[in-house]
Amino acid sequence: MDKKSYNPYDNMLEVLDSAAAELGLDKQDYITLRTPDRELKVSLPIKMDDGHTEVFEGYRVQHSNILGPYKGGIRYHQDVNIDEVKALAAWMTIKCAVVNIPYGGGKGGIKVDARKLSEGEKKRLTQKFALAISPIVGPTKDIPAPDVGSTPQIMAWFMDAYSSQFHENIPGVVTGKPVEVFGSKGRGIATGYGIMYCFKKVLEKTGKKMSDVKVAVQGFGNVGSVSAKLISDLGAKVVACSNVTGAVYCKDGIDVAEFEKFLSDDKDRDVKEFKANGVEYMSNADLIVCDCDVLVPAALEDQINETNAKNVKAKIIVEGANGPTTVAADQILSDMGIVLVPDILANAGGVTVSYFEWVQNNQNFYWTEQEVISKLEHQMDEAFEEVWKTSTENKVSMRTAAYMVALNRLVTAKKYKGEFLS
Ligand code: GLU
Repeated sequence: MDKKSYNPYDNMLEVLDSAAAELGLDKQDYITLRTPDRELKVSLPIKMDDGHTEVFEGYRVQHSNILGPYKGGIRYHQDVNIDEVKALAAWMTIKCAVVNIPYGGGKGGIKVDARKLSEGEKKRLTQKFALAISPIVGPTKDIPAPDVGSTPQIMAWFMDAYSSQFHENIPGVVTGKPVEVFGSKGRGIATGYGIMYCFKKVLEKTGKKMSDVKVAVQGFGNVGSVSAKLISDLGAKVVACSNVTGAVYCKDGIDVAEFEKFLSDDKDRDVKEFKANGVEYMSNADLIVCDCDVLVPAALEDQINETNAKNVKAKIIVEGANGPTTVAADQILSDMGIVLVPDILANAGGVTVSYFEWVQNNQNFYWTEQEVISKLEHQMDEAFEEVWKTSTENKVSMRTAAYMVALNRLVTAKKYKGEFLS
C-alpha cells in the first residue's frame, strides 16, 4: 500500500467511532478522545562525532490523562512522523484502559535511524530530547518508556538527564530502565510474556491443540524474539521468523534458540546466512501470507492491509506490534472468520510491567521476577477474558470489543471528573 495514503491516526478514529457507536455513545460523550491533549515538536541539534552539527526532529504527544499520567514509549526510527506518534499515543490511552492500569496515553519519537549513530551520538541525542520535553514530563505527569529502536540504556540516559535538573534521582520519570538503575525485573521480557498469554488463551477459546499449531512471527526485536521463544517453549511449532533483511521459513519448525544465537552479534544480519535443514528464505511481505495457523506480526504498522489481507492463511492473528493491521484489512479478516487479538490487548504486557516498575520506584521496594510475572499473568488474563466476553456478547471483533471496554472506563471516569483535565 502507498505509505502516504495510510494515516494511522485516521485509522484509530475510525475504530474509536465504531466502538462508540456499538456502545450507543453520543459523540459529545467522547469528543475529547478524538484529539490529543497536547502535541510537542522539538528540534534537537547534536554535535556529531566528526564535529558537524545535525538537527533532529523529536515529538511528544500526550493523548489523554483521564485515567492517570500520560504513558508510552519513545520511538527512534527514520520514518517517525506526527500522525504516527499521535496514533501511537491514542493507542496507549486505549491500551492502558483495556488492561485497567491507572495511566493515560502518550508517545514520543525521534526521526532518526539510531543504527547509524555512535553510542556517544545516541547518548547526546537522548539527553537533548529529555531536556527538550522535560517541561511536560515527570513521574506524575507523563512517563516515557522504550519503543521500537530505543533501549533500557536510552531510558537510563533519559532518567539521568531529566533528574540532573533537580539534583536528585527521579527514577519514576521513565520506565524500561536497566535493573541496575531502578528498573524492574521482568520488564525486558514482559511484552513477549503478554503475547504468549494471549496466544495460549486464544487457542483455548478456539479449541486448538498447541502441538498442532504452526506459528509465523514477523520481527525479532524485543517483542518478536521473546514471544517466538515462549511460544515454541509451549510446544507450538514456530515455522517462520524474520528481521529487517527478510524471513526464514521451515514447515517442520525453526529452532528459535538457534535463530536467536545467529542474530546475537548483529540483529540486522542477512537471514540468508542462517543455514538449517529445510529452511526457505522469503520476504517479510511473504511471511504475512505464509502457510501457518497463527500469525504474530511483531514489527511495525501497516503490515496487513487492503492489498494482502485476503491472502492471509492464518486463522488466528495475535498482534505484537502496534497497528500492524489497517481498518480495511480488519474488515476483510473478520469476513474471512479470522480471530484477531488486537495490539491494545496482546502487547499490553510491556506497559503493564512498566506500571509495576513505576510502582516499585514510588515505593522504593523491589519485587522478584516471579512476583512481577505472576502479577502480569493475572492482569493479562483478566483483560483477555473481559475483551473476549464483550466480543462474543456483542458479536463484534476483539478489536472493537477492546475499544468498548476502554471507552466505558474512560467515559465513566470523565463523567465523574468534569471539565478540567480533559
Ligand atoms: N512502547 C510500549 C508500548 O507500545 C511500552 C510502553 C510503556 O511501557 O510505557 O506499549
